[in-house]
Amino acid sequence: MNLILMGLPGAGKGTQAERIVQEYGLPHISTGDMFRAAIKEGTELGNEAGSYMDAGQLVPDEVTVGIVRERLAKDDCQKGFLLDGFPRTVSQAESLDRLLANLDRRLDAVLHINVDKNQLMERLTGRRICRQCGATYHVTFNPPQEAGVCDKCNGELYQRDDDQEETVKSRLDVNIEQQEPLLNLYEEKGILKTIDGNQDINDVFASVESILGGIK
Ligand SMILES: [Zn+2]
Repeated sequence: MNLILMGLPGAGKGTQAERIVQEYGLPHISTGDMFRAAIKEGTELGNEAGSYMDAGQLVPDEVTVGIVRERLAKDDCQKGFLLDGFPRTVSQAESLDRLLANLDRRLDAVLHINVDKNQLMERLTGRRICRQCGATYHVTFNPPQEAGVCDKCNGELYQRDDDQEETVKSRLDVNIEQQEPLLNLYEEKGILKTIDGNQDINDVFASVESILGGIK
């Protein structure tokens, strides 16, 4: 099975990826891991990507696509893969189609874990961290016994700047805008599978299983 996993920050992609890997034995290929591995192996493309990243610049598409091509050609991907964080643009998606066609393969499904924006806001802005011991809480899903106070050390809980409402909102908006054309593209190709990610983690995975069960 050749799969792509999509979803906004906070949609629970990481958890579902872990379970898909466990259940189906597919390699989880996230862009970050892929870059790190290529840089560590010191491949030509890895070195090139590394130099852009060191300079704080975006890695150009041709380098990224090259790294994806090398990764998908490895032995562990012969039975399939779960791509996460790539493609990010329609142009990258087209490159992916071409490189899969060269390998005589094609995408089976794009799994989109869809969560309402309000729900994502709640998930992403609720995190609180202890100033003293670093323990993390969530005001709704994992609250401390006393609001604002750490259960473990009585330290003061605070909200990171990254978790503030305005920051989270603009991060989500950027991601929504970026994701939209890709979702449309895969919808047109008839391989987009939208999963209700507002449900409990186990129910989300049950939906994933029923979709993947129809593919094999
Ligand atoms: Zn603490």
